[in-house]
Amino acid sequence: MNIFKKKFNKRPLLKQNVIIHFERITIKNNVSDLHLTDSDFIKIVYKRKPYWAIFKCPCGCENVISLSLQKIHNPHWRVINSHNKRPTIYPSIVQNIGCLSHFWIQDGKIIWCGNSGIKPFADSQKW
Ligand SMILES: [Zn+2]
Repeated sequence: MNIFKKKFNKRPLLKQNVIIHFERITIKNNVSDLHLTDSDFIKIVYKRKPYWAIFKCPCGCENVISLSLQKIHNPHWRVINSHNKRPTIYPSIVQNIGCLSHFWIQDGKIIWCGNSGIKPFADSQKW
């Protein structure tokens, strides 16, 4: 038990990774009437085409993140439904201003990158 505890203390990110932040993907067909809670993950789908993924930044900064899911946009992201309807999104998400969060969403879990909170390109070797 002590060995297990020591391992966890050395790798605090691992502890965060096991927490499910987004329980499920909610499908909507427009962006009006969005009252986001911290764990909401909204996917805007219109005429069967994915348009946007909208959710609050998981760092707690209250910033609403909207990612384009449209292939004509660069960059764009892909949301994959897991078997339990939790979101997985590809590629990772970087906040270039504000909190500077950098993370992956995998099966509803937040996986923080080592450079999260560090200005992009200021510490590029840690990417
Ligand atoms: Zn944030």
